[in-house]
Amino acid sequence: SKNNGKNQTTVFRDLLHDEILEYVELQSNLKNALTAGEFELYYQPQFNMNTNEMIGSEALLRWNSPDKGIIPPDRFIGIAEKTGFIIELGDWVIKEVCRHIQEWEERKLNYGKVSINLSGVQILSSAFLNHIDEIFAAYDIAPKKIVFEITENVAIDDSITTIAKLEALRALHFEVALDDFGTNYSSLSYLKKLPIDYLKLDKSFVYSLGQDDKTGAITESIIYMAHRIGLKVIAEGVEKLEHMEILKKFNCDFAQGYLFSRPVSKSDFERIYLED
Ligand code: C2E
Ligand code: CA
Ligand code: CA
Ligand code: CA
Repeated sequence: SKNNGKNQTTVFRDLLHDEILEYVELQSNLKNALTAGEFELYYQPQFNMNTNEMIGSEALLRWNSPDKGIIPPDRFIGIAEKTGFIIELGDWVIKEVCRHIQEWEERKLNYGKVSINLSGVQILSSAFLNHIDEIFAAYDIAPKKIVFEITENVAIDDSITTIAKLEALRALHFEVALDDFGTNYSSLSYLKKLPIDYLKLDKSFVYSLGQDDKTGAITESIIYMAHRIGLKVIAEGVEKLEHMEILKKFNCDFAQGYLFSRPVSKSDFERIYLED
């Protein structure tokens, strides 16, 4: 009825209002949060599927808000990208990883490699490579200890600029991973144009393994093809033993997921994986 419609509109308007309020609030809080030291890096270990040894970890951003608790990145990365704040935040992430690696080097801990997520906004900004130079000039860290992750859509959307930036990173001896592979167009043909070292199979893809034969056939083919063009494959979102067994059968190289570990704080990561 007419009345119902009106109620729904009101409900909708209130929801929208709340969302906008939250958005505006988050946006202004982000900068203060960085200054106040409310951001923290968690680490999720990655494993070699054949030897089971830990080969490294992915750094994942967390915001410890004093009044809202732990806010996951999906809630604020998009906003930070729209305001451009992601560039400052992204620089902080790289510096923080460098600081941690330096400490692990000094303590002679075997941390493997560390993967850092790059936003498209960050990598496409004109100052990106200068920022990389400046940050790494301040630390004595072998670039081969760092893997930069970029998502598939960034790689496709602006492929010429992206390719140039990735080539520059690899010329500096950093490694590059293509993240979330399998979520978008997944055209295999552009893979050969991208200067990358790893392909990360998206968790939505991994999750369907064992549920239908086609996903299995496609996954096996992707891994086979990735190997043929010299890429190593990391499966993300490995939650079940069954996923692990299927991926192993398909010769997948590395795995990351709740089956092994959730992302954990730096101190937990050190205690569980780095110290003996
Ligand atoms: P992503 O790069 O695809 O990271 C993997 C996400 O999957 C992480 O979520 C991780 O906690 C989650 N995950 C790991 N194993 C499993 C599993 O077995 N099952 C399931 N269901 N999920 C699993 P998280 O930490 O919430 O991060 C979400 C996204 O936020 C990341 O997706 C990445 O796109 C972005 N992000 C995180 N840290 C940063 C950062 O420092 N910079 C930028 N630009 N983006 C970041
Ligand atoms: Ca990632
Ligand atoms: Ca991913
Ligand atoms: Ca993702």
